[in-house]
Amino acid sequence: MKAVCIHCGKPKAGAWTVCNACGRQPEESADVAQSVLLSDHNLLTEDLGALAGRVASGEGVQFRTRDVERIAADIERTRKGLDVTPQRLVAFVGILFLIAAVMAVVIRATQR
Ligand SMILES: [Zn+2]
Repeated sequence: MKAVCIHCGKPKAGAWTVCNACGRQPEESADVAQSVLLSDHNLLTEDLGALAGRVASGEGVQFRTRDVERIAADIERTRKGLDVTPQRLVAFVGILFLIAAVMAVVIRATQR
């Protein structure tokens, strides 16, 4: 077991993945954070099994707010860092072409 679904308590491949049992996937940063806490990133497999039982029975798992907030903040930062808009991509490719053009001119100039 790699992770436990925070919704149904069934085992799944990883904290970020879709649950094959209930088809749900953590999307909100706080949900992903709880999923990371309910995975082998954070817990031993034996402990995961016990917590899986608590989720499945509806008893639930008490997360430490501080842990959830810390991980959720990391996830937010990572998501913002990877936020590539089409405009940014076009600008980036444009700058690359400009650099390539300047380099080509410089190389020609130095070869004479
Ligand atoms: Zn599930």
